[in-house]
Amino acid sequence: MTETPPLTVLADDTAYAEAVQLAVDSAAAYYADGTSTLDDDAYDRLVRGIQAYEEEHPEAVLPSSPTGKVAGGAVVGDVPHTVPMLSLDNVFGAEQLSDWAAGLERRLGRAVTVWSVEPKLDGLAISARYHNGRLTQLVTRGDGSAGEDVSHAIGTIVGLPDRLADAVTVELRGEVMMTASQFEEACAKRQAHDGTTFANPRSAAAGTLRTRERPYVCELTFFGYGVLPPPDDHSDLAVRLRELPHSEIMDWVAAQGVQTTAATPVAGIVAETLERVQERVGEIAAVRPELPFGIDGIVIKCDLAADQAAAGFSSRAPRWAIAYKLPATEKITKLIGVEWNTGRTGVIAPRAVLEPVELDGSIVTYATLHNVADITRRGLMIGDSVTVYKAGDVIPRVEAPVVHLRTGDEQPIPIPTACPSCGDSIDSSQERWRCVRGRACRAIASIIYAVGRDQLDIEGLAENRIKQFLDAGFITDFADLFFLTREQLLGLERMGETSTDNLLAAIEQAKSRPLSRVFAALGVRGTGRSMSRRIARHFATMDNIRAADAEAIQQVEGIGPEKAPVVVAELAELAPLIDKLVQAGVNMTEPGATPPAEGEQTQSGLPLASMSVVVTGAMTGPLASLSRNEVNELIERAGGKASSSVSAKTSLLVAGEKTGSKRAKAETLGVRIMSPEEFADQVSAFL
Ligand SMILES: [Zn+2]
Repeated sequence: MTETPPLTVLADDTAYAEAVQLAVDSAAAYYADGTSTLDDDAYDRLVRGIQAYEEEHPEAVLPSSPTGKVAGGAVVGDVPHTVPMLSLDNVFGAEQLSDWAAGLERRLGRAVTVWSVEPKLDGLAISARYHNGRLTQLVTRGDGSAGEDVSHAIGTIVGLPDRLADAVTVELRGEVMMTASQFEEACAKRQAHDGTTFANPRSAAAGTLRTRERPYVCELTFFGYGVLPPPDDHSDLAVRLRELPHSEIMDWVAAQGVQTTAATPVAGIVAETLERVQERVGEIAAVRPELPFGIDGIVIKCDLAADQAAAGFSSRAPRWAIAYKLPATEKITKLIGVEWNTGRTGVIAPRAVLEPVELDGSIVTYATLHNVADITRRGLMIGDSVTVYKAGDVIPRVEAPVVHLRTGDEQPIPIPTACPSCGDSIDSSQERWRCVRGRACRAIASIIYAVGRDQLDIEGLAENRIKQFLDAGFITDFADLFFLTREQLLGLERMGETSTDNLLAAIEQAKSRPLSRVFAALGVRGTGRSMSRRIARHFATMDNIRAADAEAIQQVEGIGPEKAPVVVAELAELAPLIDKLVQAGVNMTEPGATPPAEGEQTQSGLPLASMSVVVTGAMTGPLASLSRNEVNELIERAGGKASSSVSAKTSLLVAGEKTGSKRAKAETLGVRIMSPEEFADQVSAFL
């Protein structure tokens, strides 16, 4: 969240005039059918640049300038609003929010004691007119004073009932939008109809709302955020609706059967302090990536009618409300290419290669495309301008092509006809395509991993050898290596007596590796070297690991409720491979570890019991020949926990030669420091 909004810098009157024209055209296209060539962020930057130029050069201001105008001055519609539909001013961070609140409280001459905090929905503002409880007319915001009649959409909008619970005459205000699933469905319908698609949920909602005669119907969603009695209505209800706090008005709206955000994770709340407001802003921003609909900010307003009345309005916005803008989660960029990869389980997945674009604080160059059906459904082509979505830690995804920006040079996306990894056939019977070889497709990769230095450490087993064995049909997985015979190997090209004997000896040696390495060799998803060590130390034997359910696996430090079932499921899938390893006589126990069933304090007799140890720098003395992974194994054999970073929880830093920041940090924190030689002394029994 930036405090100072970025803007487009304009050099002179010509650049200013061009910018104004671009903004006007863009706003007109946007409010006409949602097909603006600028994404929101680019438009906002442009308008802020225009505004900055006008402040410096007030004599140059053009009458067509979009600044200070609702909807950027785009004029659409001829149905006058009873009360103007204004937009809100923006703030871009905590500091600007408190400045705004302070200014408001100065104007009021008192503190605001109740704030309402609601999500700012990323859709189109609409006025829904009810007469005696019946929905009679839908009007878009238009330029704020008059909008367009879109009553034909009545009956297609979820959350906007044809009849209210009471026979009242009111005007509801709220946002019309498409949820993620409605957007998917709309894209599929349009794709089937004319081969094109919608760029994003909001332009899909805008287009759908304003198109009268379309051969297919797309569903929309409404969330109410306000209600107005007719201006000349002085009934009890009208008086009450003018006097109730905003939060209670929203309760009334919901009670009429209208959808509000109350049932969503971003439900409106009231806050008594600005600190709580700020906290709620953070909460809403945090759940934004998981919401099934788009939000682009948070609306903060005075909850009490008296505060609202006292604050009043400026020419274009209420003074008692503000929009706290969140960073854009969607931008337009170019789809440069599509890469296809076969995963470890044989699933073939496409990945979009993008022209790099900054989104929600990071540069996005790749995005997920899910599967072939997804590409077809969206009608994507190489060279397309595409909308890309990313929020928080969510993997960026391509939403859709921006069809009206096509130049004619776009090319179809090549769809693989054979597995990109092994060249064998593709099983396309399901939406997720797979290599017919399944897991075996990636056999080479998984065998190379299994025999690597930090796993089984089988010397002399290079990739070309593994491929040779696979092609000869001697092996299909790494467990088969333990069943290779001298005769088999000698029958192969480039396998002499010496190399055969050396290799068989290396394989024989690998049978006695500790369980932690054997487990690591399995390549269970989400368990690397250190996690494999922790699992092996915790359970002590492979039998114990295989007997563990998700709950038992979760007892291992670092395995959460999401990862545990994955580990259990993968182990079940790997059962034949593990059985083969057992049959081959591969070691299935962890030296020095005692299974958890025999008591919790199993490590207490060991020299590094309950110590967190960090190793840094080059090792010397007895440790010089060990890899970092082997030193970590040593630490854990001696009862300690190997960690990679120094913190207040670190018990000991083993500092070799050429140490840097870790040593400095340990000194600052008063962590005990040892040389590799001193440390080797301490744990000599485990070396
Ligand atoms: Zn394959």
